[in-house]
Amino acid sequence: KCELDRQQLFVIDGEIINEMKQTNQLKRILTKKIKEKDLLVYYQPLFSTKSKRITGAEALVRMYDEKLGIILPYKFIPLAESTGEILDLGLVVFEKVCQYIQEHDLKEMGINFITVNVSPLQFEDTQLVHKFRQIARDYGVDLSMIEFEITESAMLNTALFDYQMKEFKKYNAHLVLDDFGMGSSNMQRLITYPFSTAKLDMSLVWSYFKGENHIMKHVIEIFKEQNLAIVAEGVEDQSMVKDLSEFGCEYLQGFYFSKPIPAEDFDRLVNQYNHN
Ligand code: C2E
Ligand code: CA
Ligand code: CA
Ligand code: CA
Repeated sequence: KCELDRQQLFVIDGEIINEMKQTNQLKRILTKKIKEKDLLVYYQPLFSTKSKRITGAEALVRMYDEKLGIILPYKFIPLAESTGEILDLGLVVFEKVCQYIQEHDLKEMGINFITVNVSPLQFEDTQLVHKFRQIARDYGVDLSMIEFEITESAMLNTALFDYQMKEFKKYNAHLVLDDFGMGSSNMQRLITYPFSTAKLDMSLVWSYFKGENHIMKHVIEIFKEQNLAIVAEGVEDQSMVKDLSEFGCEYLQGFYFSKPIPAEDFDRLVNQYNHN
């Protein structure tokens, strides 16, 4: 019996070691990629229910490795947050988005804004907004073209959050409340902040369409009363498009329209979609 236990122990150990090796490998790739600014930015369209056009996009980071292929953010964002590299990662993504805007005639495409995700940990950098502005200026990009997606978890540190929100507002940056419905939401407090848009997390959207509850509809009503534009995430079929449009969601995002895709593919999609 003792033999067997020892063997099992060995197997488990092997797994842990393997996992650690993988994490370390990923860490090395991540550090190198960030340093070389070698990150990919994919774009996922935001469909306007009013104009029936693609009028925006969310920028979503990817990492490409020769051996591993395209690596999705759930694998490396938490890692980057644990090492503090998320600060640099966030700036690299922002810079790529500015470069994209510089190289395109967004007005002509019918695109009004691109959104970027801001990790709560980036809020710890008191120079954050200053850095965003500087990068935008380097690329001749007007900050009004970019919307910053911020999650509630950034609010845990109240003083810091208040400070950063003021900084963003000083320069009229557009702020989106991201992932609403994921955690324990304090609506009362949330709506005191100058968000222009609220994004319903797909878990909230899906639970409604699975018939599990009606929370989403109440949430939509409250946000509408506050004059917030609403984005629904995770839209996967035509019936969702119909209902969410009727409920008053201004923007829809999801695989029904498109997955996140490389910039060139996004350009092509918008061109087809918006010009017929
Ligand atoms: P998120 O901000 O909630 O972004 C939306 C995620 O939902 C994306 O996953 C997108 O591919 C996925 N999605 C969109 N529509 C649908 C749909 O109809 N069905 C399904 N099943 N999924 C859909 P992605 O690109 O893997 O990103 C995951 C998360 O990683 C993001 O969640 C965001 O929290 C984080 N992330 C991505 N890029 C960045 C970044 O540049 N900076 C930071 N800090 N976080 C990022
Ligand atoms: Ca987001
Ligand atoms: Ca998010
Ligand atoms: Ca989400």
